[in-house]
Amino acid sequence: MTDVEGKRLILVGPPGAGKGTQAKRLVDRLKVPHISTGDMLRAARAKGTELGLKAGALMDKGELVPDDVVIGLVRERIAEPDAAGGFLLDGFPRTRPQAEALQAALTKDNLQLDAVVFIEIDDDDVVDRITGRRQNPETGDIYHVDMNPPPEAVKVVQRKDDTENAVRTRLVKYHNETAPIIPFYKEQGLLRGVDGRKSPDEVTQAILEIIT
Ligand code: AMP
Repeated sequence: MTDVEGKRLILVGPPGAGKGTQAKRLVDRLKVPHISTGDMLRAARAKGTELGLKAGALMDKGELVPDDVVIGLVRERIAEPDAAGGFLLDGFPRTRPQAEALQAALTKDNLQLDAVVFIEIDDDDVVDRITGRRQNPETGDIYHVDMNPPPEAVKVVQRKDDTENAVRTRLVKYHNETAPIIPFYKEQGLLRGVDGRKSPDEVTQAILEIIT
């Protein structure tokens, strides 16, 4: 095992900061599962479950899904065998009650987080990045129409909540509901910041240096 493997990490930051992109790049190195509540909710929606359909309506507007729903999903997911040796959480926690519930679940099993990586970008960059974001629905690979255009042969789609209106709502939610988890983790000495304006390679490198 190398020194970056088997950690319990969280990626936090505004929508469009690059959490999903970085998580996909990091999990191979870290040898832990990528746990994205957004991906889990989109999968539930695609399956047409009641939870997925209810969540989908909120997601399209840029609203948050209720805490008890996502906390339940994550509690179950981190109890799966593949997460026993660590995990990379992306998009969770997104509220202070979610952060507290995660803490309680880990403490109960005598576990702790290794680090919370805060990918920082400004609101103006968020809107540019998100409205240009495209994804390959088959592989999950993420592109940007200008900054990282997909190869011609790759069919990409735009997420339903990547419209300007939904992004504005998501930013308000981020500042009101998610930003309060930053001081929560800072007080515990777990928070590590990286400059999310840098290239994806530079951000990956900075994160690997932080967690090594
Ligand atoms: P993401 O893929 O992380 O950008 O999440 C997309 C959408 O899923 C969010 O805008 C929320 O509607 C919902 N969602 C994802 N994770 C959470 C969470 N931890 N708490 C509440 N809602 C969430």
